[in-house]
Amino acid sequence: MAVSVVSLGLPVMVSIWTKLIVIRNPVLIVDKCPQEWVGGNGYFTAGAHRTVHGGLHDLLPIVKHPPTKEAIEWIDMAPYTRDDFISDIMRLGNGRPDPVLVKALVDNSRDAIDWLAKHVRVPFSFSFNRQAYDVDGRQKFWGGMVLSVEEGGKGLIAAHQRALQEKGVEIWFDAPAVSLIMDSGRIVGLVVLQGGQKVALETRAVILAAGGYEASPPLREKHLGPGWERAKVRGTPYNTGDSISIAKAVGAKLAGDWEGCHSTAWDANASADAGERELTNQFTKSGYPLGIMVNASGERFVDEGEDYRNYTYAKFGRAILEQPGGFAFQIWDSQVIGHLRKEEYGDGIVEKIFADSIDELAEKLLCKGLVDKPKFLDTVMMFNEAIRHHREEHPGSLWDPAVKDGLSTQSSAAKLGLPKSNWALKLEKPPFLAVKVACGITFTFGGLAIDPESAMVVSDDGGLINGLFCTGEMVGGLFYGNYPGGSGLTGGAVFGRKAGRGAAQIVIESH
Ligand SMILES: Cc1cc2nc3c(=O)[nH]c(=O)nc-3n(C[C@H](O)[C@H](O)[C@H](O)COP(=O)(O)OP(=O)(O)OC[C@H]3O[C@@H](n4cnc5c(N)ncnc54)[C@H](O)[C@@H]3O)c2cc1C
Repeated sequence: MAVSVVSLGLPVMVSIWTKLIVIRNPVLIVDKCPQEWVGGNGYFTAGAHRTVHGGLHDLLPIVKHPPTKEAIEWIDMAPYTRDDFISDIMRLGNGRPDPVLVKALVDNSRDAIDWLAKHVRVPFSFSFNRQAYDVDGRQKFWGGMVLSVEEGGKGLIAAHQRALQEKGVEIWFDAPAVSLIMDSGRIVGLVVLQGGQKVALETRAVILAAGGYEASPPLREKHLGPGWERAKVRGTPYNTGDSISIAKAVGAKLAGDWEGCHSTAWDANASADAGERELTNQFTKSGYPLGIMVNASGERFVDEGEDYRNYTYAKFGRAILEQPGGFAFQIWDSQVIGHLRKEEYGDGIVEKIFADSIDELAEKLLCKGLVDKPKFLDTVMMFNEAIRHHREEHPGSLWDPAVKDGLSTQSSAAKLGLPKSNWALKLEKPPFLAVKVACGITFTFGGLAIDPESAMVVSDDGGLINGLFCTGEMVGGLFYGNYPGGSGLTGGAVFGRKAGRGAAQIVIESH
C-alpha cells in the first residue's frame, strides 16, 4: 500500500503550480517507489495471515485449492479463538499493547480475511510448509497461524494489483507524498512530488499506508539505538518514515513502541539496504528451534526453544544484532536437517557449512567469524550433557516439533544458565550443519495513534484529524518488543478497510 487520496464520485483536482489537471478516478494511490518496486513490504512477505478461526473445516471455503477429502483426514488444525489471538498479542507485548486497538484487530480479522478472499480474490492456502510438521504421517499445525497465500507476497500483491485495475484505481509511482494541506483542522489536500515538481491534490480524505522507518539507518539509530544502522533491510527500501513526519507536521499524535521493531534471523550474506525481489522472504532463517544459535564467542544467547518459532522469530533479530559483530551461527545435526524448510535452507539458497565432527565444524567457523573455538566446543559439550541428564530423568519423552514437547536442557542433575526449553536434541549425529545469520529488520513498531473504530488519526490534543486515516505499519500501539507472526498483513487489511469506509463516507458527505 502507499498513500491513497479519496475523492469518491468526483474528480480529484491536481494543480501543478498554476496548472490544473483533472483526475477522473475517485481514488488515487501515490507511491514513492518506482513501478518495479510495487507492493511495498507486502511483496516480500510469505503471505502469512493470522486470523480467528474455528479449525480446518471453518477455513476450507476460503482457501483457493482445498486439500482432498483423503488429505483432510491427516490434518490436525486446532481452532484459534478470539481470546487466543488477543492474549498472544498482549502476552508477547508484555501487556503494553493498547487493548482497544488489539480487540479491533482481532474482532475484525476473520471478516477481513473473508473480504480479501471474496473481493480481492487473494488466493489463500494452508501454510503447510511453514506452520505444520509431518509427525507420524499427520500434518500437525502449530502456533495459531495457518493461512498463507499461493506464491506468498508475490501472489498477494498480484491479487491486489488485479483488483485495483478492475476497479479502475489509478496509481502514480515515483510520486512521494511530502505534506498534507489542512484548513480549519481538517484535511483539504496532499502535496506530492511528481517529476521533481510539487503537485497539490485537492481532497477531503487521505489514507496513509506508507510503512515505518525501517529503511532509514539514521532513524533506526535514533529510535532503536546504536548498532541498528547495521541491520539488513528485509523488504522495500522506500519505507523511511516520511509519512510519519508528514502526519506529525499536522499535529498527529505518536503512539506505540518507538524503541521496538520486528527483526529476524536473516542470511548474513544478504545485501544490507533492501530486500531482493526474486528470493524475497527466503533469506529468513527460522530453523533455530530445531538446533542452537551461538555467537562469535562460541556462546548461546537465546532460549531457542522458548516458544513456537512464530512467537520468537520477530524478537531474535535484535538478539543477534546485540552479539559481538552482530552475527551468529545456527547449528544442527543430521537428526533434524531434513526438517529445515527447503525455501530457506535449500541448496543454492544459503551458504551451508557442513562438517563430520563438531571439532571440524568449529575449525570451519573460525574462517567465518567464530573467535573462541574452545568456548564453542564447551558450549556444545555442556548442551549435550544437560540433555543427556534430562533424558535420563524423562526416559519416555518424545521429540515432537509440532507441540511444545518439554524436551529441555534442565533437569535436577544439570541445568544450563540459559535453557533450551523445548525440542532439545543432542548435537551428536554427523553431518553437522551451520549457517551464518545476521539481523534483518522487517518493520518498526512506533507509529501514529489512531481511533480503533474508524482508523482516523488522533491529534496531539486528543481529538481526531478529520479526513486523515492510517493503516499498516504506520499504526502505533499494537506491538511492543515482539509480535505474533502473520498479524501485520491482517492488521493492514482490518484498519485499511475501516479507513477506506471512513474516507469514502467523508467524501460522499462533503458533496
Ligand atoms: C521479508 C518480509 C516478510 C514479511 N512477512 C509477513 C507475513 O508473512 N505476514 C505478515 O503479516 N506480515 C509480514 N511482513 C510484514 C508486512 O509486510 C507488513 O506488515 C505490511 O506489508 C505492512 O503494510 P503497509 O502498507 O504498512 O506497508 P508496505 O507494504 O511496506 O507499503 C508501504 C508503501 O508506502 C510507500 N511509501 C513510503 N513512503 C512514501 C511516501 N512518502 N509517499 C508515498 N508512498 C510512500 C512505499 O514505497 C511502499 O510501497 C513481512 C515483511 C517483510 C519485509
